[in-house]
Amino acid sequence: MTLARCIYQFLTISTFVIALTTITAAQRPNLNAEPADHEIAKVEAKSERFMISAANPLAVEAGYDILKAGGSAVDAAIAAQMVLNLVEPQSSGIGGGAFLVHYDAATQQVTTFDGRETAPSAATSNMFLDASGKFIGRRQAFSSGRSTGVPGLVRMLELAHEKYGSRPWSELFQSAITLSEEGFAVSRRLAAMLKASARSLGSAPDTSEYFYHQDGTPLGEGEILKNAQFAQALRLIADGGAKAFYEGPIAQAIVDRIAKAVSESSYPDYEMSLEDLTSYTAMERDPVCGRYRQFKVCGMGPPSSGGIATLQILGMLEAFDLQELGPNNPQAIHLLAEASRRAFADRALYLADPDQVDIPIAGLIEPHYLKSRSAGIDSQSVVAFYVQPGVPAGADVDRWAPSPSESGRSTTHLSVVDARGNAVALTSSIETAFGSRLMVGGFLLNNQLTDFSFYPENDGKPVANAPGPGKRPRSSMSPTIIYNDDGSLRMVIGSPGGSQIIGFVVKTIIAHLDWGMGIQQAIDFPHVTNQNGITRLEKKPIMSDMAPALEAMGHKVRVGRMGSGLHGIVVTQEGIFGGADPRREGIALGD
Ligand code: GLU
Repeated sequence: MTLARCIYQFLTISTFVIALTTITAAQRPNLNAEPADHEIAKVEAKSERFMISAANPLAVEAGYDILKAGGSAVDAAIAAQMVLNLVEPQSSGIGGGAFLVHYDAATQQVTTFDGRETAPSAATSNMFLDASGKFIGRRQAFSSGRSTGVPGLVRMLELAHEKYGSRPWSELFQSAITLSEEGFAVSRRLAAMLKASARSLGSAPDTSEYFYHQDGTPLGEGEILKNAQFAQALRLIADGGAKAFYEGPIAQAIVDRIAKAVSESSYPDYEMSLEDLTSYTAMERDPVCGRYRQFKVCGMGPPSSGGIATLQILGMLEAFDLQELGPNNPQAIHLLAEASRRAFADRALYLADPDQVDIPIAGLIEPHYLKSRSAGIDSQSVVAFYVQPGVPAGADVDRWAPSPSESGRSTTHLSVVDARGNAVALTSSIETAFGSRLMVGGFLLNNQLTDFSFYPENDGKPVANAPGPGKRPRSSMSPTIIYNDDGSLRMVIGSPGGSQIIGFVVKTIIAHLDWGMGIQQAIDFPHVTNQNGITRLEKKPIMSDMAPALEAMGHKVRVGRMGSGLHGIVVTQEGIFGGADPRREGIALGD
């Protein structure tokens, strides 16, 4: 039995013990399938040479083996991602998209790769509205094939591999192929999500056959699941490269599956064509980078809002001595919420696909601008429940109407540092849990286009994040890499969690950099988020206890469970430290 499997078994067994002793939040999983009514305490991993942290031990094991064989961070990320597709199918996979941030130890440069889904050429700005201009409803929008964007993951991974891969491409698929053919044990989280989603998933023909018994009961924890079709698809991609996904039988199967779903829906005027698939391009984009105290923080630029919002929040907080205030202090939590409120006001107005919309990227993260935004924060009380967007340099503030935050409940994040010191932060998604619920080739297709604004206009003004042909929907995914003053690597982090991702990532950065917590403790520390409205506190001791004090400062507070999936690595002179989110079932493993 491998080390990762041992750890996995230990965690599974220990969960029963921990479940009796730790906090239980919402007791019943909801339809959006967040089953973690318990937490699995994680121990920080320490190593000397390399580290990987991801949402499932089997995926970690696949990445670990590649690192051990001398593979690069990108190689390990690809191997782990393919296994995640299989064992955590609700979150990510080749039917979806991703963003990857890479740190090159030799040059100390950060590069980002954009594998975000694109809207097919048949997309229109009012594709989510009926003839009377009303939203077509969640069911039609989310699971009719209408919101499936052209998947970007495979082409993006190939692009990253061409530049930073060191092991042969085909080798990186072997763990996932073997596990698909021999089977894997359904995890506790997947089993809980299948149970929670039984009504919608169990009645969908593709998924019911794969995930449910003939009598309609979902697969349970520990049951062995095989996926021969997925193994076959992976073999094609392993041998033929990304081309084998975007052309040929896999591409045809995607086109046909969407055509069938769309024809059976209430709005059959839509398609994804073969041409949409063959013409998909993944892109290398400039990272967005800024300083936070003595550190340099780099993240994913548009079409993700994650990097800019993270830098904005940190930039606004620079003016406050968070270290002095300390973590268990309502005033510090108030400041986090206030900075976040302002970043989300800007995000709603300005952030969208940079290839189709002018975004004042430099202005939004410019230190003077952030200082002026920060000056609007009162350190003792809430100035406004809903703040207005700012006017950064280069912005046309009157041009757009704001579009609200989208929210998903799926996605996965993994962090890797290889033996040469290169790092990868990869956040990958099929959008909501189980995506569109449509399966081809043993994998699920995304419903990422629901990250567009459903309404292309608001009060007569266009919305920057409206749908359009070839357009990439705005994301919140925030894979982030931080380095020290001397250019050496310090931290690799990211999370799932819909638009709350930004808050999860910022909190973890501050907990480590300002409050001196190790990576595991920083991940464990309870969340606070504000998306220009309610202040959400995670239902955990310390954080929930601050609710009355925050209310007294003027916050409208909501306390609840928060489904992050933070997986991070910190590098110091003492070694490489890995942390995994106790709210999910991942681990960190290094050597
Ligand atoms: N689709 C979302 C985004 O790209 C992420 C969804 C999630 O994390 O659950 O921002």
